[in-house]
Amino acid sequence: MNEKKISITVLLPAGRLPLDIMAKAHELAGRYDLGIYCSLTQNMRLINVPESAVDNVKNELAELGADFKGPGKFPLPRICVGKDHCSLGLVDTEELSGRITARFAGREKTKAKFKIAICGCPLNCSSPKETDIGVVATKKGYEIYAGGKGGAFPKIGRRIKREATADEVVDIIATLVDFHHEKTKTKQRMYKLLADPEFPFAEV
Ligand code: SF4
Repeated sequence: MNEKKISITVLLPAGRLPLDIMAKAHELAGRYDLGIYCSLTQNMRLINVPESAVDNVKNELAELGADFKGPGKFPLPRICVGKDHCSLGLVDTEELSGRITARFAGREKTKAKFKIAICGCPLNCSSPKETDIGVVATKKGYEIYAGGKGGAFPKIGRRIKREATADEVVDIIATLVDFHHEKTKTKQRMYKLLADPEFPFAEV
């Protein structure tokens, strides 16, 4: 009987792939005949992992500091490449992503299923307006959107803040995440909360 194959997703903060993890993934892929898929959420998914090799694969990657996708983890922001790597970039998106992940690093359990996206200018390459929480850099500061989504019936998020500082971005995300947690039993997209009379932000 053919052995069952599964996927393992390695989380890549800010979409950066450390060279030692890349080398290990390459070696493991050769050893176990795996595929490597770059996911739409900017993570690295090892596919066709034989069930009997899962622990080995995870342990060898974890020794290099790799973390894995799993229930209850705070979502890593999906970001565009930003300033220094794009001529139109206004901000360092990696730095803002790092601030957000640091703020929520100790969070025990985050309810699914919202995503966060950041882009470094109004061209929206990382689709922040179609994401549950979207952050758009402009020349006058950040705009923040809530309740966007993709899928079969996409929605543009509601703009809830203009001309925000990076500190305000992180605080507003914290307010949204707490509200989502309070109003959600198990999982829920942010757009379903926009009509709640207690939603903490008006459209601006
Ligand atoms: S959103 Fe702007 S800064 Fe980001 S990659 Fe696109 S054009 Fe560049």
